[in-house]
Amino acid sequence: MNKKIDIIGAGIAGLTAAITLARDGYAVTVFEQHADVGYRFNNDFQGLENWSSKIDIMQELASMGISLNFDYTPYSNGLIFTSRGQAISMQSRIPIFYLVCRGSNSETLDYALRRQAEECGVVIKFGKRIETHDGRAIIATGPKAGDIIAAGITFKTDSPDMAAVVFDDSMAPKGYGYLLVRRGKGTIASVIFREFRKASHYLTMCQELFKSRLTLDIREPKKFGGFGNFFMRKYQNRNNKLYVGEAAGFQDYLWGFGMRYAFRSGYLAAKSIIEESDYDMAWKRNLRPSLETSVVNRYLFERLGQRGYHYFANKLSTGEPVDILGKNYNPSLVKRLLSGVAVKIYTSRVKNRECNHVDCTCVWCTCAKNGQLGVFGN
Ligand SMILES: Cc1cc2nc3c(=O)[nH]c(=O)nc-3n(C[C@H](O)[C@H](O)[C@H](O)COP(=O)(O)OP(=O)(O)OC[C@H]3O[C@@H](n4cnc5c(N)ncnc54)[C@H](O)[C@@H]3O)c2cc1C
Repeated sequence: MNKKIDIIGAGIAGLTAAITLARDGYAVTVFEQHADVGYRFNNDFQGLENWSSKIDIMQELASMGISLNFDYTPYSNGLIFTSRGQAISMQSRIPIFYLVCRGSNSETLDYALRRQAEECGVVIKFGKRIETHDGRAIIATGPKAGDIIAAGITFKTDSPDMAAVVFDDSMAPKGYGYLLVRRGKGTIASVIFREFRKASHYLTMCQELFKSRLTLDIREPKKFGGFGNFFMRKYQNRNNKLYVGEAAGFQDYLWGFGMRYAFRSGYLAAKSIIEESDYDMAWKRNLRPSLETSVVNRYLFERLGQRGYHYFANKLSTGEPVDILGKNYNPSLVKRLLSGVAVKIYTSRVKNRECNHVDCTCVWCTCAKNGQLGVFGN
């Protein structure tokens, strides 16, 4: 058996696969188009959600063999704003999420994964964009299309650590705005599912809201943007290539919490190579039910409207947020039945899915310019 494998893309999914395979004795080479890991991010804060499973995410990562050698901070409470203006507080008995930093600096999750991979012998070839690949490989190239857009700022601040979210279509159409502060640094972003051209406007609205309603000073703001991609494919093992992370469409349709999917799919793909088992069976068993649930959640969330957001916020405030979110993220028969319809409604901006592989140069903005794409949800 040839214990040698190439991985395209050094994001969470690719590096998780690399670490798992290298620990099993594989000679792993990762090809990354940029000069370092984390180029897609801006040293902004993200949340590793802790509600979609009864198993704590940090415990889950440890059980996959991922060392917790990165900065992470549990957040068990936060504020929710809606169009009615008042701050609704939520408090949980266990962490709702763990805040991590994304990007290239030494505090980031991405840098920590790079270090782990290199320590176990993975060779990462930076500045190598792979257009085609003939042999066996894991494809971990991230999103190709913008079905969801985030516009944000990172900043310095003297404000205390805090987390806040806003559900209000005038600040983030069909999405949400968020504020995360930890140890003198902060991130604000508006995550939108509509009206992409007005992303800057929505970011300004979120910024104004958080500044006016919270004791928040913002110094040295730096703008950033990002996007995520949603699509469903029947097979993720094609032409001797295993697709993982957002390259496989593994994303949370509801709010874009894709990191847990990236870890899980990278791990599952690596395990299937090590155990010579069926990767398609593994992701269908472990990831598809929650993917289908998330597309139904998106369908339902888009129908809530301003009053519905307020009702939902109050529910989170009066109950146990992790349980309420967990219940919504967990598969049920009704959601399973609805998912067939919802998947058809929420088709990706990448219309030709066959082009969504490693030798595809069709990035999302080019597609949009060609006018080939429908608007997400329309
Ligand atoms: C602004 C923003 C905020 C987010 N917030 C959250 C959050 O709070 N919680 C959460 O769970 N998720 C969040 N997400 C989503 C999450 O970051 C992603 O789902 C996750 O990082 C996907 O990991 P990945 O490994 O699949 O892809 P990526 O992280 O995109 O990694 C892909 C890598 O492949 C490289 N690559 C691409 N093509 C090639 C090629 N042809 N050759 C070589 N290299 C290539 C890229 O340069 C990149 O390094 C957010 C995303 C954005 C943009």
